[in-house]
Amino acid sequence: MSEHTTEPTTVQLDGITKEYASLRAVEDVDFDVTPGEFLVIVGPSGCGKSTTLRMIAGLETVTDGELFFDDERVTDLGASERNVAMVFQNYALYPHMSARRNITFGMSEFDDEEIADRVENAAEILDITDLLDRKPKELSGGERQRVALGRAICRDPDVFLMDEPLSNLDAKLRVQMRGELARLHDELGTTTIYVTHDQTEAMTLGDRVAVLDDGQLQQVDPPQQLYDFPQNRFVAEFIGDPAMNMLSVNITDQTAEHDGFSIPLPEYDGFEGSALLGLRPEDIKYVRESEPDNEAFKATVTVTEPLGDTVLFYCQTPDGTEFKVQSEPRLGVESGDEITLSYDPDRLHVFDPDSGEAVYHSAETAGATRAEQQAQTGDD
Ligand code: ADP
Repeated sequence: MSEHTTEPTTVQLDGITKEYASLRAVEDVDFDVTPGEFLVIVGPSGCGKSTTLRMIAGLETVTDGELFFDDERVTDLGASERNVAMVFQNYALYPHMSARRNITFGMSEFDDEEIADRVENAAEILDITDLLDRKPKELSGGERQRVALGRAICRDPDVFLMDEPLSNLDAKLRVQMRGELARLHDELGTTTIYVTHDQTEAMTLGDRVAVLDDGQLQQVDPPQQLYDFPQNRFVAEFIGDPAMNMLSVNITDQTAEHDGFSIPLPEYDGFEGSALLGLRPEDIKYVRESEPDNEAFKATVTVTEPLGDTVLFYCQTPDGTEFKVQSEPRLGVESGDEITLSYDPDRLHVFDPDSGEAVYHSAETAGATRAEQQAQTGDD
């Protein structure tokens, strides 16, 4: 594939809003996509992902706000006036045309030689050279999606826009195509905006991930940052599987109290009183009797869910609060057992129970505190 002919494009969303009658599907969304970036928009069904993408594509009018590609204001330009290529979930292939014709259809602005070159290049990248004369019904789902990608690549667009392009594929093929999309993006370096409801897809593909809920942007950050430092309860519970536990606690004196445990919050300087303590299932650990642990507390297992490489314990504190623990397998733990657990003190999160805003991540302070202590005692 020939390199993209111009420098990768910046896409800027400046207070983008979309209203359908009385419904505000997208509300005052601001973010920039940097040149050559792979940005994923993720959120639950109906949160406004597709509407946002369609506004960027020019397929949907913008009610309020401005859109820029580099320095050019494109807010009012039609889809054909923006050099974007879109890939959809349902492939959108013409059934009576060959793969080759599907790829080249509508490329009348190029001469035949140029088109042939571009198809050849795209087919090579996508490994579909041998399939170009087949009709869509003679192709598997994965092959059809490759043809749809071929159509997008051939246009050498400024921006790729992808709307759930893998969700019609079975789980195994989805993982394979995910890898191929990442490779393709590395190869082409084209600015890409990708919509999905699947947080694993978002985390694995995105240079950065924009989380939307109810038409509103919650956070835009690299995947690890979203996982480690979620700005609010929605992001904390949406990113990560199984979801982060949210335990009602009472905070006094830099300590989160709950019936059954008391957890110190080093350097906490947020509000006192009732709060939500966020603790990921993978940050809670089963403690063997032979390995006593300072941070330990007890809980009763109500259900065990073996996943092969891990086991999920559904647990209850003495006051009946439920939470999940992701543990190593083969510990012989059964439902009804009372077990001892500990937690990673560097992975505690506190949220305001009313606004949902994050007020504390122990990783921001606890790790540093520990390093200082170790330096003082000469311990490493
Ligand atoms: P997502 O892609 O996150 O699933 P959408 O962007 O498709 O969500 O939709 C966001 C909201 O806007 C939903 O409540 C949906 O019902 C509504 N919506 C989408 N398209 C239209 C339309 N053409 N007319 C009216 N409401 C719409």
